[in-house]
Order: sequence, then structure tokens, then C-alpha cells
Amino acid sequence: MQDDIRDILIDRYAIQARVYKMAQQIAADYGQREFLLMPLLTGSIIFVADLVRHLPVLMRIDVMAVSSYPGKATTNQGTRILYPTEFDVAGKHVLVIDDILDSGRTLNSVRNLLAEQNAASVKTCVLLKKRLPTAPATEADYLGFEIADEFVVGYGLDYNGYYRNLPDIAILHKRVFAPDA
Ligand code: 5GP
Ligand code: MG
Repeated sequence: MQDDIRDILIDRYAIQARVYKMAQQIAADYGQREFLLMPLLTGSIIFVADLVRHLPVLMRIDVMAVSSYPGKATTNQGTRILYPTEFDVAGKHVLVIDDILDSGRTLNSVRNLLAEQNAASVKTCVLLKKRLPTAPATEADYLGFEIADEFVVGYGLDYNGYYRNLPDIAILHKRVFAPDA
């Protein structure tokens, strides 16, 4: 696995320092207001596990699973919710956690859906955001790092299901994507 890594973009120590700061900001913003943390599977699992351990406040955690866009370039089919089948968010302050904001379509759909389900408020928190020429469909309320438009893995993010267990955010060698090249 280590041989597949071309560069470490953000190392584990920088991640930890930033996650700690983000937790402090979230705790300060919510104050005594109880909130529901909603991590999006599977990419956010490592991030959320670290984040909550710096958040000594009353909270519940409900995971949510959404399908990635099956359509190729022309996407207007929205995000498909795989789990849960029923929501219990009415009147709750929901903080959605995801690994990375790219086009922003995932978070935008989730945000709208939770609003339709009468959540009292919906905020979003991502570890990473891609720096793209066009604006994303939605911005995150809490952001860890802005990165260049490159495909990254590690700290929960996968390629083909692998590399989520890398402790750092990394870029893979090209040959990993095109083994015969
Ligand atoms: P969006 O809806 O913002 O375009 O896409 C967000 C989702 O795309 C993320 O939750 C993540 O699963 C996936 N994604 C986008 N960029 C990357 C990346 O650089 N690496 C990995 N592993 N997943 C990404
Ligand atoms: Mg994801």
C-alpha cells in the first residue's frame, strides 16, 4: 500500500491540529444547543471519529449513506439516499459531516433533503474542499483544508474502496489508476 503513494499532501499531524481547531469552532458556535451529527458514509468515518472526541457536548450521531452519482457528465438526477429510509430530524439542529466537497452536489442535496424534513437548522462540515474554477453547488459551513484539484485518498477517502486506512491525505501514483500504462 505504501508503494502506491506518490506524495503526502496533508500529514496526520496537520490533520489532527486542524480537526482540533474545527471542533473548538463548532463547540463555540453551537454553545448549549444540542445537535445531531450526521456523517455521510463511508468517507467521513475517520474524520468524524476524531472530531467528536474533541467535542465534549451533548449530541447524537446518526449516519447517512448516499449513492455517488451514477450519471457521468450530465448530472441532474440528484443524490440517492440509501440509508436511512426514514428521517428523525424534525426540529433538530443537524450538522452534516463529509470527507470532501468537490462539485458540492452531494452536500447540496443532503442539505435540501434535511430542510424538507423540517430540521431546525442544517450546517455542513467537510475536511477538504477542492479548489475548482467554478463555484460548488454549496459551500461548507466548516472547512478543514482547501486543496488543489487532484484526486486524494487516505484518512477515510478511498480509491476503489482502498486506502481509507492511510493516516495521511495522499496522492497516488498514476500507475495505480492505469496499471498497464
Ligand atoms: P461532490 O458531490 O461534492 O462532487 O462529491 C463529493 C464526493 O465525491 C465525496 O463525498 C467523495 O466521496 C467523492 N470525491 C470527490 N473528490 C474526491 C477525491 O479527491 N478523492 C476521493 N477519494 N473521493 C472524492
Ligand atoms: Mg463520499
